[in-house]
Amino acid sequence: MSGSIKKPSAPRPCPCHSGRAYAGCCEPAHRGDREPEEAVDLMRSRYAAFAIGDAEYLWSTLHADHDDRAAPRETFLRALRAARGRAYPSLAILDARRRGREAEVLFFAGLTFRGRDASFVELSDFEHDGTGWRYRSGILVARADLGRDPAGLGIDDFLAIAAAR
Ligand SMILES: [Zn+2]
Repeated sequence: MSGSIKKPSAPRPCPCHSGRAYAGCCEPAHRGDREPEEAVDLMRSRYAAFAIGDAEYLWSTLHADHDDRAAPRETFLRALRAARGRAYPSLAILDARRRGREAEVLFFAGLTFRGRDASFVELSDFEHDGTGWRYRSGILVARADLGRDPAGLGIDDFLAIAAAR
């Protein structure tokens, strides 16, 4: 019976790349146990939901005004579940600002699609609807089109880059 003693397994790291265990980071939000406290936390949990394919969570955290809400829920869920070949290797929050129930988060989302880099910088717009933060809209610029290193990028600089494109 040698070798029957199992080592305790390491806690699963959170797919949002916070460096924390999933159980103590985005999992409670994904399970519906609690709402993320800040818009940045919601943003992280949405990135993590993309990484693990939690389409229900992505739908439930969309603001009622988001474009994707115009289509039926089933269409949204089916499209997300059909998305294959993506990997989510890194996430970096670049800048954030909040005014009351409104918040903006600028982030670099590491993403590969079928092995090719598909990373982008996005300025996401969130509103707290009284229950939790919800994702309303986003402005995306592919890393390849950014013309600079995303590190150190601020919201105003990003808006200038996005407007010039
Ligand atoms: Zn997390």
